[in-house]
Amino acid sequence: MSEILENIKDRNPGEPEFHQAAEEVIDAIKPVLDKNPKYRKHKIIERMLEPERVVSFRVTWMDDNGEIQINRGYRVQMNSAIGPYKGGLRFHPSVYPGILKFLAFEQIFKNALTGLPMGGGKGGSDFNPKGKSDAEVMRFCQNFFIEMTRHIGHRVDVPAGDIGVGAREIGYMFGTHKRLTNEFTGVLTGKGVGWGGSLMRTEATGYGLIYFAQNMLEHKDDSMEDKVCLISGSGNVAQHAIEKILHMGGKPVTASDSSGYIYDEEGITQEKLDFIKDLKNNKRGRIKEYVDEYSSAEYHENKDDEEFNPLWDIKADCAFPCATQNEVNLKDAENMVKNGVKLIGEGANMPLIKDAIDHVLENDVLYSPGKASNAGGVATSGIEMMQNYLGSYFTSEEVDNRLKNIMKDIHENCLSAAEEYGHKDNYMIGANISGFIKVADAMIAQGVI
Ligand code: NDP
Repeated sequence: MSEILENIKDRNPGEPEFHQAAEEVIDAIKPVLDKNPKYRKHKIIERMLEPERVVSFRVTWMDDNGEIQINRGYRVQMNSAIGPYKGGLRFHPSVYPGILKFLAFEQIFKNALTGLPMGGGKGGSDFNPKGKSDAEVMRFCQNFFIEMTRHIGHRVDVPAGDIGVGAREIGYMFGTHKRLTNEFTGVLTGKGVGWGGSLMRTEATGYGLIYFAQNMLEHKDDSMEDKVCLISGSGNVAQHAIEKILHMGGKPVTASDSSGYIYDEEGITQEKLDFIKDLKNNKRGRIKEYVDEYSSAEYHENKDDEEFNPLWDIKADCAFPCATQNEVNLKDAENMVKNGVKLIGEGANMPLIKDAIDHVLENDVLYSPGKASNAGGVATSGIEMMQNYLGSYFTSEEVDNRLKNIMKDIHENCLSAAEEYGHKDNYMIGANISGFIKVADAMIAQGVI
């Protein structure tokens, strides 16, 4: 197996995030390949690691000063064995093909786990929406989508949001697509509920994360009730994770952005969360403004020379990293274990580095990888696609029930796949195996293409 990874590193130089995601899956599925020689014979994992298509393009737009700006746009169409490519768009200065390949690769397994017919893809741009006016964001989105439109379609590839892409950006991109194609089709998910969007899509990733955590706790005869929870991020996933923790009687005490974090020992209540939502979604402010409003909280500004993130060095029962990849290093993981954290649920994609995962698993922490525990977002996107095909709407209650059932099924499938291959209660191994087998069998059935 090490040759496969070495080959990936040689063929994709300078893309450490992609190598990291590949290594996790290659290690986890080894027993499946040993037991089922057909997957080696058909070179399934090698094929999964080579994108079906990568599109890279120039995005030119004009800023408010009349100056021309140039960004790069991408779409990685990784695997379409079980359905149209599906995965979000990320607008962040750190975006480059290596990040998108890691995310698109993860998406293959995540989408398979939902049980819905969706392949894996991811895209985005190195455009930074932070500090841009609405008009600038609109002009960027329009120019980005003028090119993107020719590569996607409601039966081909259906993008959604991710970091830096929320309701505002989806609206501008959908409008551009409609104008260019003269068609009103469900070519993007995360749309507004008045124009083809699904109720509960906004909440789905964060809510699904906590439903999954609740399943993990119930598996150990426990619950979210009274659990002190650490959350990183203050965007879409973090906000709705905090909300669902509150619904389930837990106590969220932290939130963060890329500048620093707040710690509210008295707990973030629904009223305080509403303040965060307004601050981040409408005012586009910074999390440090929370302490001006609530004196019960303290703010910690990030420092460049910090070896660990003090957010993860607070006494708690559960931790939910919901910001970005590789935000939890080994020292952070050691701090969590030392402080009594018993459950880590990944809301972000790949927030724990490999050593951190190894450390928490060695210390019997219940750990769920993002591809399982944050799958509620894409699952609800799949439900949105279904509604668009039908030309109909489901109620909030219907969508929420489907979401709960999907998260429960993913939980059970992870456990049973892990147990079958001798790794009881290892959600990381179970998620990779379960997702892999579904896509691998479809690829074999569809021949050598
Ligand atoms: P948002 O853009 O809504 O929020 C992202 C949050 O993370 C912000 O608080 C942001 O702070 C912080 N953040 C982003 N980049 C960094 C960084 N490099 N260092 C520190 N903090 C950072 O994104 P989402 O909530 O949608 O996404 C968060 C994570 O969840 C991502 O990993 C995404 O891939 C994953 N995810 C999202 C899904 C969805 O449905 N939205 C579905 C599945 C996974 P700041 O404002 O300062 O940038």
